[in-house]
Amino acid sequence: MQERGMLIVLSGPSGVGKGTVRQAMLEGDYRDFQYSVSMTTRQMRPGEVDGVDYYFRTKAEFEADIAAGQMLEYAKYVDNYYGTPLKYVNQTLDSGRDVLLEIEVKGAMQVREKCPDGVFIFLTPPDLMELKNRLTGRGTDSAEVIEKRINQAKEEIQMMANYDYAVVNDEVPKAVQRIERIIESEHLRVPRVINRYKNMVN
Ligand code: 5GP
Repeated sequence: MQERGMLIVLSGPSGVGKGTVRQAMLEGDYRDFQYSVSMTTRQMRPGEVDGVDYYFRTKAEFEADIAAGQMLEYAKYVDNYYGTPLKYVNQTLDSGRDVLLEIEVKGAMQVREKCPDGVFIFLTPPDLMELKNRLTGRGTDSAEVIEKRINQAKEEIQMMANYDYAVVNDEVPKAVQRIERIIESEHLRVPRVINRYKNMVN
């Protein structure tokens, strides 16, 4: 029987650069996965192509797909729907290929519930790492800015607790390399390979 592919979920707070990292992964040599094109109700931006960047749909069309149980997950983000069509993900995983989702955090938590054997990667801003140094450093930020930043960091750390890996997006090529290493290691985990070995000895 064909081994199932692995579901890789790349997520993280807004503005962290998920889209850029995903794009770099698609353009790089590491092509051992399929990207699941999301569906959205937001306006197409210049240069975007329907079916490549997103499936651009009306609100009514999107809601019909939700009602028909055709979405693996979906979320409302800045007044628009974004979601992952279920069929492509299932078919691709069944064919033995890995699937990459690049989605915001609410959707990622729905996937976590439905697909607990997925690999959940939280992309974090380098700021989160540098925060303490910065805040305790020269003191150039106002008290108000410092408080906002601390609150934001707290929220992000709370979200991170639901993921398997935290990858700092300090430089895109480095973040991509870290993600590729995670994918490689995850493929070697015993629960993922043991059936292959069992079949070998039987
Ligand atoms: P943008 O409008 O900038 O392309 O995307 C806005 C946000 O929606 C980003 O954080 C992106 O990761 C997220 N997003 C894109 N596709 C999906 C999806 O299928 N599901 C969910 N939950 N979020 C998505």
